[in-house]
This record gives sequence, structure tokens and C-alpha cells, in this order.
Amino acid sequence: MAGLDPENWDALRALGHRMLDEMLDNVQNVASGPVWQPMPDTVRQGFRDAELPTQETSLTALYDQFSHSVTPYATGNRHPRFMGWVHGGGTPQGMLAELLAAGLNANLGGRDHAPIEVERMVVRWAATMLGFPETATGVLVTGSSMANFIAMITASRAVDGGLEMRSAGLAGRKLVGYAAQTAHGCIARAFDMAGLGTQALRRVPVDADFRMDMAALRQMVAADRAAGLEPFVVVGTAGTVDTGSIDPLTALADFAEAENLWFHVDGAFGAMARLSPHYAPALAGMERANSIAFDFHKWAQTPYDAGCVLVREPGRQAAAFAQSLAYLSREDRGLAAGAPWFCDLGPDLSRGFRALKVWFTLASFGTERLGGVVSQCCAVAQHLATRVQATPCLELLAPVTLNIVCFRVIAPDTDEDTLNGELVKDLQESGVAAPSTTIVHGKRAIRAAIVNHRTVEADADLMLDTLLDLAEKRLGHTLERQTA
Ligand SMILES: *Cc1c(COP(=O)(O)O)cnc(C)c1O
Repeated sequence: MAGLDPENWDALRALGHRMLDEMLDNVQNVASGPVWQPMPDTVRQGFRDAELPTQETSLTALYDQFSHSVTPYATGNRHPRFMGWVHGGGTPQGMLAELLAAGLNANLGGRDHAPIEVERMVVRWAATMLGFPETATGVLVTGSSMANFIAMITASRAVDGGLEMRSAGLAGRKLVGYAAQTAHGCIARAFDMAGLGTQALRRVPVDADFRMDMAALRQMVAADRAAGLEPFVVVGTAGTVDTGSIDPLTALADFAEAENLWFHVDGAFGAMARLSPHYAPALAGMERANSIAFDFHKWAQTPYDAGCVLVREPGRQAAAFAQSLAYLSREDRGLAAGAPWFCDLGPDLSRGFRALKVWFTLASFGTERLGGVVSQCCAVAQHLATRVQATPCLELLAPVTLNIVCFRVIAPDTDEDTLNGELVKDLQESGVAAPSTTIVHGKRAIRAAIVNHRTVEADADLMLDTLLDLAEKRLGHTLERQTA
């Protein structure tokens, strides 16, 4: 029997249908189980001891292992009370699209085939969604880390039209960029990976609302220019990861224009707020950016992974990334036609069919319903913030701009940083809810990011009530829960 196809297609088909049914059941009932549970040592050890298989294992046995050792111990981000970091909840529609995409096994580096047109379509839709011209270029990537990286490379190559720097490197040029202190760590990482060095990323102080201080930015750019450095980019964040704050995007667009800087927006999750009529005005100015990085896998609920970078001016992205290797040469017709290819717009040559799940997600729900999810998440966050403020033993640590609530339990005479850190672990291990932590104004905060389309106010209530129970247990006394 040649090749790897199954000997018994009927048996494989039956098992495949069972897998599909059981996973759909699992998604449908996700809220009835724990958010997360620690993986037992025996299960973990099973993976650590497993040796490279040299012989066949039946798919039935593998699926059994998956069902017992993987499914129950996943991150939990599909669950309505997962509130940690910024994770999307996924949808069964997106899951089915992944199944179809894997069946086609398409490679979207390039060439002339329908999957490429699907990606072109969703990139064009993304541009429309975010207020960019339809002529903007873009590419789907793993996530905003990669999208921000591609944008920083594109911005730096735009300084001299790309060509010289691509062959000669920086050659002594001292390019510097700017991002608020609250910018995501992947921006500094992009500077690192691009060879610019993290010191070339100037960290601009923020105001009391965690937004970039424009006066400070002005001074820093002027001082750098005076010192002979070459400012090239300013990064604004639409929805910071710690508190959900939004940098003054219109002021940044004006400033970048006046100073001839590339204006990039990291809108990893926040860019999606543009789909909510109520929250869209808060993002005004974002549509003037030279480039945007954002994720479909966070607030847009597409299954992991699906990030996207958009570049306003046609040609800029290709100027930064396109290569002309003979064996990749483009033809006028046949399968090697259809340039430019997606491999011209980023570092990846072989690429999967992420575009299908993005298409199915955007089209299954439409942007109005997805915008409704954004509004709903923000409403849950507002509800949670209101409850925090009405509870004497709790303290709200940052304004709630979008969907992130930073707060903590006040317990005088205890180490509050340790207490709050331990409480988050208690809560995660309880299986009831999973917020995460961050540092706000030097204080350890409990951070609830409402990103999941399944989360409702009752979930925020249960998270908070359980947290207070756990705090009382840990402290050994009752807490003042209601204002009189
Ligand atoms: C999540 C996030 C990133 C990183 O995106 P990934 O998709 O995880 O790579 C960057 N910036 C912000 C503001 C984020 O929230």
C-alpha cells in the first residue's frame, strides 16, 4: 500500500465523525466545566517520557490520549469566566473552517489559487473595517507580535526606500522610535529582532490615565534629533494590555505627519472596538496610521492563530520584504502567476490557510454582531468596575476605558501585593474563574480582561464573589463587602 492514506477509509470516517461530534459537544458545554485545572503529574509525565514513535499508532489510540490528556487540561480561554491576559474565546464556526483548511492543505506563500484570493479578500475587509484604504497591503500572521515586527521592519526600510538598508544594514545610521511605557513588550522585541536594539526604542511616559504624554514625546524627539539620532517611527497603542487605555491617536497622527515619522498603531485587541458604534470614537486617529497590527484571535474570536498587519501605502511592505530568487520567479500565467504573493509581504514563505477561518468568522457573524460582542464585553467590564467601586474592601486601580478592569483587595496590615497575587492563583485553581495579574502604579493588581463572547455580567459577579470568599478564607476574617 503506497503513501500514508488510511487502509480503511470507512473506519477513519467513522472516527472523524465521532471526533467532530465530541468536540462540538465539548465546545457547547464548555461553561459547565472548570475554567482550568492543573494537569496531574502522571499526565504531564506521560508527555515527558514519550519517545519518538518509530512504528504506527492507531488514530483511535491517539484520539483516546488526546481526550484524556489534552482536552481536560487546556488553557480554558473558551470558558466564559476566563479573564486572564487577552485571549479570545473561539467559535465552532471558526473550528470548522480550520478543519476545512487542513483538508485542503493549501500553502499561501504564493501562486495562483483560490485560497490566495480568500486571503486578499479578508485583508481588504480588514482595511475597510479599520478605516484604511482598500489599496492597503497586508498579510495574516501568527499574531500581533509578528504583525508589529513586520510593521517595524517596514517602517525602518521606508526611511531610505528600503533598498540600501536591506543590503548594507544600518551602516552606522542611528534610527530611533517611540512608544509609551505602557506599550506591549513585543514592540521592544521587534526593535531587538530587527537589529535596531531595544535602546533605540524610547519609552515615553504616560499621564494619569495611562496614555502617552504628548509633551514628553515632543521633547524626546527634539532631543534625539539634536543629538544626531534619526527618529523614524512612533507607535501608538489602541488598547494597552495592562489597562486597556488608548494613546491620543489623533494627536499622534498629527505629530507624526508634522515630524515626518511613520505612525504605527498596535491595536492587537483594541482595534476591534472600531466595530462598536459606542466605542469607535475612542479610536479616532487610528485610521490615519501608516500601519496597524491587530489580532483576529483576540476580540474577533477567530481560533488561534490569526494576526494581521496592514500597511497603508501600496508598495512599502513589498519594498521591505520581497525577494527575487530565481526558483520563486513569477509567471504571466499558469500556477506560478498572480504576483504579488504573500511571501513578498513578510518573512514567511510557506504559510497556512488562516484566511479561511477569518473569512468564516467575519462572514458568519458580520461586523455588526462582532461589534456587539465588543460592546457586551465592555459592558461587563463596566459592571465589574461598578461593583468593585461599591465594595469597601476593593480598590479600582485604573480607569476602565474598554474591557479591562484592574483592581485589588485592600487588607491593611498585610502584604497586599502578595495577598492579591496568591488570591489570583487560588481563584485559578478553584476552576471558577481565571483573571491574571499586572502591576499598576507599582501595586500588584488583579486584572480581568473581558474578551470572550460568552462572558456575561453573572460571570463577573461569580468571579468577584468567589474572590471575596477566598480572600476571607486566606485572611481568617470577614471583609466589608457592601457599602451601607
Ligand atoms: C496580545 C497583544 C500583543 C501581542 O499579540 P500576540 O497576538 O499575542 O502576538 C501586542 N500588543 C498588545 C496590546 C496585545 O494585547
